[in-house]
Amino acid sequence: MRSDPANKALSLPELVNKYGEVWRNMGPEERKPYEDESKGIRVNRTRPIYTTTGVDINLEREQENQRMLYEDYLKKLVETAVIEEKDIESLKNKSFFFMAFNVLCREQNGTWYPNEVGLVEYSIRNGITNAYHCFIDPGDIPLGYTRVAKEHSEATHKIPICNFVKARGNNRLEDGNRDEEARRKAYQGIVLEIFEILKKSKLKTNVASKDRSKYEMDDETENPFMVFCLPKQKNQVKGCIEFLCKNAQLDQQLHKNFEVLDSILLLSLLVVRMGKTRPYAVCEGDLMVTTFDYSAGTNCEYHEEMDVSADNCALGVVKKMCYLLSDILCSVYNIQPTDKHMPSQANDDFQVEEFVPLPSFNSTRSVPVNRYFHDNDMDSHSMEVPETIRPPRQLPSEFPNSYLREAVGGPSTSGEKEKKVLDPRTKLGIGRGRGIPRNK
Ligand SMILES: [Zn+2]
Repeated sequence: MRSDPANKALSLPELVNKYGEVWRNMGPEERKPYEDESKGIRVNRTRPIYTTTGVDINLEREQENQRMLYEDYLKKLVETAVIEEKDIESLKNKSFFFMAFNVLCREQNGTWYPNEVGLVEYSIRNGITNAYHCFIDPGDIPLGYTRVAKEHSEATHKIPICNFVKARGNNRLEDGNRDEEARRKAYQGIVLEIFEILKKSKLKTNVASKDRSKYEMDDETENPFMVFCLPKQKNQVKGCIEFLCKNAQLDQQLHKNFEVLDSILLLSLLVVRMGKTRPYAVCEGDLMVTTFDYSAGTNCEYHEEMDVSADNCALGVVKKMCYLLSDILCSVYNIQPTDKHMPSQANDDFQVEEFVPLPSFNSTRSVPVNRYFHDNDMDSHSMEVPETIRPPRQLPSEFPNSYLREAVGGPSTSGEKEKKVLDPRTKLGIGRGRGIPRNK
């Protein structure tokens, strides 16, 4: 009505007069589009509610729902991996894959720059059956991150932040510039090798397609590649795979068909499968143990020479995790652990060259530094307390008079003047109150 130029000058009551009759003569079908439009306007006029961070609350709820659905889906993948093997014997032979990365840095926009990867294949029966490791050239350090990268490297993995000769993709042209084409090819090689190993990680049961559509992921009918790591490393592993896939320029969707799962949950469910219980929190503690942090042969060659803890080598992280899993699972599944399950604690190179006897306990005991008073039970009888360090004869004033007299050797009932040796501890208030009757 308002859009009609003839009505522009009319006020609202005049418009009602003009079109009231028309509206009254309209049937429900004719009125419907106008009524719907009116409802829509009312809905749009509702003020959105914002959270304290300024995000629309409906949007945040929706994102939270999506996140929870995704977490449920990941849990379902782990459960299926444990229960899809019909008998325990085949579960013992089933391969699980563990993956870890070291990084140069992480940009604020969420981009991870990987510089080392470690991946192992593990089964309960055979332990670690396959290990993959390489250093990756992450490219130029992003602007403003040199100090962060340097400090991170020095504090943890000690991988040079640029021009690392062992890193794949670290190729230079004759003019000294980076050979980007060679780096892309190196990434392609790494990605293909990793996904070739991970072929066996896919579930046999197809649980993915139905559940994935729930949270609007790609219409994948295939099960994803699956790797395990500690929950705190999940974002890093996922981010690094994404970086490799994008820079390899093979298939931009490849990293989306790759899921990083919780190794703590896996351990808990593997124990449950044998009819025993091991709560998640206990399993979490199992995988935090530091027993194998410095076991020989756990880290890659470079980090073995560096003599860093297994937590600072990508290969060390995943191998250590398998050792800790074996520590629990071998006993639960009645498997005799081999050196593929955990490193031998015996060191064949160790030889005792000379026996040095411990100091004899019968030798003269010295007085402990903080205790200089003579004690018949503890000190040798020949030792005398030097006069200079004897406490003064005067007792603290708050001591009861009767006790004071007894302590310093008051008149005896036998008439003989006794000289009582004062227990020096009482003078300093040590053992105060002992032997003094209360409320006398
Ligand atoms: Zn390493």
